[in-house]
Amino acid sequence: MSSIKSVSTESRVFEPPAEFAAKAKIGSREAYDKLYAQSIEDPDAFWAERAEELHWFTKPTTISQWDPPFAKWFLGGTTNLAYNCLDRHVLAGNGDRTALIFEGEPGDTRTLTYAELLAEVCKLSNGLLDSGVKKGDRVIIYMGMVPEAAIAMLACARIGAIHSVIFGGFAAEAVRDRVLDAGATTILTQDGAWRRGKVVPLKAQVDQACESCPGVVRTIVLRRTNNDITMKEGRDLEWAAVLDGASAEHEAPALDAEHPLFILYTSGTTGKPKGVLHTTGGYMVYAHTTTKYVFDMRPDDVYWCTADVGWVTGHSYIVYGPLANGTQVLMYEGAPNHPGPDRFWEMIAKHKVTIFYTAPTAIRAFIKWGDEHVTKHDLSSLRLLGTVGEPINPEAWIWYRDMIGGGRCPIVDTWWQTETGGIMMTPIPGAVAAKPGSCTLPFFGISPKVLRDDGTEADTNEGGYLVIDKPWPAMMRTIWGDDQRFKETYFSRFEGKYFTGDGARYDEDGYFWVMGRVDDVVNVAGHRLGTAELESCLVAHEAVAEAAVVARPDELKGQALVAFVTLKSSAKPSPELNAALSEQVAREIGKFARPDSIRFADALPKTRSGKIMRRLLRELAAGQTPTGDVTTLEDISVLASLRSDES
Ligand code: ATP
Ligand code: MG
Repeated sequence: MSSIKSVSTESRVFEPPAEFAAKAKIGSREAYDKLYAQSIEDPDAFWAERAEELHWFTKPTTISQWDPPFAKWFLGGTTNLAYNCLDRHVLAGNGDRTALIFEGEPGDTRTLTYAELLAEVCKLSNGLLDSGVKKGDRVIIYMGMVPEAAIAMLACARIGAIHSVIFGGFAAEAVRDRVLDAGATTILTQDGAWRRGKVVPLKAQVDQACESCPGVVRTIVLRRTNNDITMKEGRDLEWAAVLDGASAEHEAPALDAEHPLFILYTSGTTGKPKGVLHTTGGYMVYAHTTTKYVFDMRPDDVYWCTADVGWVTGHSYIVYGPLANGTQVLMYEGAPNHPGPDRFWEMIAKHKVTIFYTAPTAIRAFIKWGDEHVTKHDLSSLRLLGTVGEPINPEAWIWYRDMIGGGRCPIVDTWWQTETGGIMMTPIPGAVAAKPGSCTLPFFGISPKVLRDDGTEADTNEGGYLVIDKPWPAMMRTIWGDDQRFKETYFSRFEGKYFTGDGARYDEDGYFWVMGRVDDVVNVAGHRLGTAELESCLVAHEAVAEAAVVARPDELKGQALVAFVTLKSSAKPSPELNAALSEQVAREIGKFARPDSIRFADALPKTRSGKIMRRLLRELAAGQTPTGDVTTLEDISVLASLRSDES
């Protein structure tokens, strides 16, 4: 009852490549250990030093204040995140360096230097202020992946308006819910966004959402796809008109360290999304520090994170962290398989990308599409790879390392959440040896623990509840407008400790292995098992691209295991394959874990951010119609096809 049993047999270890380590900011395990020890023994001293690397109009007087569940960081300090991402570099004489390299889905490109990006952000800041947006107002950014989305975020951050980016793949209903919850007055959007050669009509969704959002007094509309839109007199403004005549100079105001920076809704894997609030100073220092060390980032890197700005990864690791570090950020507008399944590899070769950060769901899709799309491009510019979003199956990790990284690039498997603001566990690439499927060790200042049901600490290799027992600068401050839900969701399970909702264990080397969400834990023959290890066992079979394991009620056994499996495009479902997969689980894990049913599926239900929604599969496996929130589901038709394909 109290713990989660680990059945993983993964034992491969990959040391940091010597050539990488030799040039890295942190180039040895000793250096990591030393800095980590300092960061835990005296976190205030550690973070004060990190804060010194950024500009403050007034220096903080108190580094941290912890009144569980409420944290404050850099009290008394005033700063400006946009200033630190832009003005600071320009003032240091680096205005001519490339900040953003944009590639549109149709193939158009645009490059902005730091000076140019600063000018654009200043213009929009002035334009927003002139149109009546004030400090503290909530501004929705519902856009595609275009430079203006980043410019909009930076302009809001600059003037102290609280942005809430809504993923452009969401429809009117999801926009409405978030607008209402945030109490937003302003929406920044575009006529449409390109996706797989088609126009996603964003403005039309905004119009529909606004029918039930009387609080929205203005929208500002960028023209991107030139599809027909209707502009509502008195409410809708053209982006170009707002910028017209706006000065390219704007003095960044000094904002309090705890001034709210953004609200971001979680991706909704487990249910109704939560409006996570982040504030200025702590988030800024943490995004800057994690980017610097986790990606070993330098100004001459060409860094590409394939997330959308609608997710926290897009906030911390497309916009704020990389720009604060003064690097060159590649931003891509469209789908990974448009016009062909090799678009990403073509872009890496073309832009000479050095750091590539993507999600396991994307990696599994690449595997499914076939190696031939990768091998025809020159990926030798890459020096570092990263993943985020889900536990990565060890076989997918190995494929990523060999096929994309040419066996030469370290991989940083970064565990974190919308709530944590930045990367919490990860190998430091020049210092910490990687194990496929493990996010390895905590980042500086982070104190993760694995607890049993009763709150005592789990032993080595005993799975339990993953908590963080000390505050860190970028931790969420609350759920927007709902302190009570904040307390209940994160701090009531284990008094005074932040509960992540994930299950994990640490191994004999102190490495952390995230075993999936505790809500998804399955109970087989009296063993509580995390889904990640069972799924990884299936994915290790050469025919399998992706797998999701859930339990359904069973009269005899209590729970029976159902595995949903997606095959590589080279493989076909068959009774023999079914038997072989069952055999693989029996051999690798044990007969008790043999799935009671294996269902082949063309696709699995996922959130818009690409995470498997086991909650829905559980209901399907039990023969029920999914009941909970399905608005965050990426493709509703996947549910219907899974339902009709009973086997
Ligand atoms: P919701 O909280 O609304 O259900 P969500 O948890 O999917 O949505 P995010 O904050 O985007 O929203 O995702 C964080 C979660 O993603 C983590 O709690 C964890 O389950 C998973 N995750 C992220 N990175 C990793 C990783 N490297 N390894 C394992 N799991 C990861
Ligand atoms: Mg979550």
